[in-house]
Amino acid sequence: MSGCIFCKIASGEVNAEIVYQDDKIVAFKDHAPKAPVHLLVIPRKHIRNLNALDESDTELMAHLMMSLSSIAKEQGLLDGFRAITNTGNGGRQEVYHMHFHILGGGRLPAM
Ligand code: 5GP
Ligand code: ZN
Repeated sequence: MSGCIFCKIASGEVNAEIVYQDDKIVAFKDHAPKAPVHLLVIPRKHIRNLNALDESDTELMAHLMMSLSSIAKEQGLLDGFRAITNTGNGGRQEVYHMHFHILGGGRLPAM
């Protein structure tokens, strides 16, 4: 989607420190990390957030969810990690291209 910063990262138009990518998803480092390791995992397809998913996204979402663990492990998070996705205004979503935060490194504070 034009004007979407994460679409631009997925297409390579905007630079990011990409740690994993395939034909469906891209994982890159958050530019303002809130934990020693802070990654963002996005679908290449522009989807606003969880509330905007439809049946046709089932396979894509399965792939994204199934990839989180291996992406985290590849970045050294062998002792576990936190995956969250902020959804909508109430969820304090800032970028309206769905993304899963992977946070880890050391022991995270309790939620
Ligand atoms: P949200 O509140 O939408 O879940 O979080 C958006 C996240 O994206 C924030 O953690 C923010 O630091 C990160 N972010 C926003 N713009 C960019 C960018 O251009 N590049 C990178 N690498 N991260 C970004
Ligand atoms: Zn987008």
